Amino acid sequence: MTLCLLELIDAPCVGCDHETSFSFRASWRGTSLHTGVFALRAMTAPIAKLSFWGVRGSTPTVDPATWRYGGNTPCLELIAPDGTQIILDCGTGLRSLGSRWAAPSGGKAPETHIVVTHYHWDHIQGIPFFSPLFVENNEFHFYSFRSKFLGRDSLKQVFEAQMALPYFPVDMSAMSAKRKFKEVEGGDSFQVGENKITARWLNHPQGCLGFRIETPAGTVAYATDNEPGDAKLDKSLRELAAGADIFINDAQFTPEQLATTKRGWGHSSWMEGVRVARQTGAKTLVLFHHDPDSTDRMVDSILRQAREEFDSVFAASQGMVITLGAPGDKVQAHMPGARTALRREAQFHAKVCGVTEGGEDFEEETMVRDISLQGALISLKHLPRLQSELQVTMEAPGTDGMQAMNLRGYVVRIDAGPEKGHVAVGVVFTD
Ligand SMILES: [Zn+2]
Ligand SMILES: [Zn+2]
Repeated sequence: MTLCLLELIDAPCVGCDHETSFSFRASWRGTSLHTGVFALRAMTAPIAKLSFWGVRGSTPTVDPATWRYGGNTPCLELIAPDGTQIILDCGTGLRSLGSRWAAPSGGKAPETHIVVTHYHWDHIQGIPFFSPLFVENNEFHFYSFRSKFLGRDSLKQVFEAQMALPYFPVDMSAMSAKRKFKEVEGGDSFQVGENKITARWLNHPQGCLGFRIETPAGTVAYATDNEPGDAKLDKSLRELAAGADIFINDAQFTPEQLATTKRGWGHSSWMEGVRVARQTGAKTLVLFHHDPDSTDRMVDSILRQAREEFDSVFAASQGMVITLGAPGDKVQAHMPGARTALRREAQFHAKVCGVTEGGEDFEEETMVRDISLQGALISLKHLPRLQSELQVTMEAPGTDGMQAMNLRGYVVRIDAGPEKGHVAVGVVFTD
């Protein structure tokens, strides 16, 4: 048995991690446009990549019980097939996006469009910590609405206020990137590159915009921070979601909370998301803006209930990447990498019970060949559903001979297995 420091089971894999989505962008923006696998694939089928840098609502969490879905507040990044980068919201996830951004170099400064849904803390808090804003050659196009509380240049004022003394150590003059601000409001549509962005008002205290982004690879509807119950705004939500490939909806509260104690807080539930997805023909629903008090187990339970009602649902997870428009499979999701832990190679007999991609229960005997204190990499003939639960029973030597060790796991990634007809399933063990 060898003991070594390696990336854990959910380490980045080729073609599905941030490193790769980044080099994908770099290959578009650099000089190698006509070389390389991605450029070739992109010429035949337009591909868009949607990365989730922050998924938590209201305030960031660092509670260990929330690490699996993640604690950063809303920030998404869409790389459209034409290379245009669209950032949705500037929550604390924006800082991580910025730190990945600084790594590659060369090529022309990329054009980036940043849409901000509204001015609540959780959607703007990452701005002063977004390092590319402190680089002179960068240029950003910001879009948001004129708040009646702030007046003209609302978003510009938010920048200044966040960095005013005594709230931040350096003032705005340190932010040397070019910044252009554009006011948009519900009903507006505008074009960035080959992509059309439409804004609609949502039902949220002090106002909030939802956005629909139509790219040649598919359509993403981003509707966070909205509460059902206002007929006119319920209709605009449906206009945003109509036929979308990905419909990202606020799922902060349980249906029970939404009906009682949390009514009027401006948020929604998984059940509303399912209802809207069904009514509008949206293909994949992503539950978003998890409550800071929701532990991973609670989000698991919300996701499980939603999956009983609607076929294609994911719970937004920090680091998750969704690919749109890939040949054969229009929507592909990949779970995050980058966490590391002590890993041991081992040989355990195990019995695994779970649910397949097609929703069938399965049971299978296998070998566990790689285990850490947090998870394992298991080779299976069945294809379990991403973000579903697995029961893993392993035989482990105990004081009285072999004993069964029961573990409850959660599927974080799936790759092609080392053996033919097998998949390698990354599992994180939960309580
Ligand atoms: Zn929010
Ligand atoms: Zn809000």
